[in-house]
Amino acid sequence: SAAFASGMAAAMSIFQALAPNDHVIAPLEAYHGVLRLLRDFFASWQLAVEFVDMTDLDAVKRAVRKNTKLIWAETPSNPTLKLTDLAVVAEIAHGAGALCACDNTWSPIIQRPFELGVDLVMHSTTKYFGGHSDVLGGAVIARREDEFFQRLRAVQTIGGAVPAPFDCWLVHRGMQTLPWRIRAHSENALRVAQFLEAHP
Ligand SMILES: *Cc1c(COP(=O)(O)O)cnc(C)c1O
Repeated sequence: SAAFASGMAAAMSIFQALAPNDHVIAPLEAYHGVLRLLRDFFASWQLAVEFVDMTDLDAVKRAVRKNTKLIWAETPSNPTLKLTDLAVVAEIAHGAGALCACDNTWSPIIQRPFELGVDLVMHSTTKYFGGHSDVLGGAVIARREDEFFQRLRAVQTIGGAVPAPFDCWLVHRGMQTLPWRIRAHSENALRVAQFLEAHP
């Protein structure tokens, strides 16, 4: 795993570890910064990016090409909370000889992408991990520390997308209460959902 200066730096390092003319499948609905990064910057560095509705698994299958190297998923998506079937998307990626990455920022602890076959898990630790709105950070966790991950690490350290020591301390502080905060968020959300379900 690798800790980053921000969630965007973490996402960026994954795309930078790819090569020109590699093909990436990404969701139509995801964090605006990631979509802009792919659309406005990596396109001009010859990364071929195709955006699909990832709730439509046939659309994901149809988007696969010979040079598909990465399927990027974000679920639940920010801000529209679209859900992606990670197990199927990971299977489609592996069938194409590609990696599957999941931006898991919005469901730490509850959603465990490695158990669903995902290869790379990315987090903006600015959000739930930090938990106090006083730090920026990101993380990439790899199922295998293989050649792709080594390239990602090289891009990160040579490019300087590393976190400051004090920021690491702040994220680590936030992580101490992460399980309890997620439990409280879940209980509160369930109460709201039950109220709405029973309301005419
Ligand atoms: C906030 C966010 C990011 C970017 O993270 P920063 O730490 O703000 O750079 C990426 N993906 C998702 C889903 C986010 O919510």
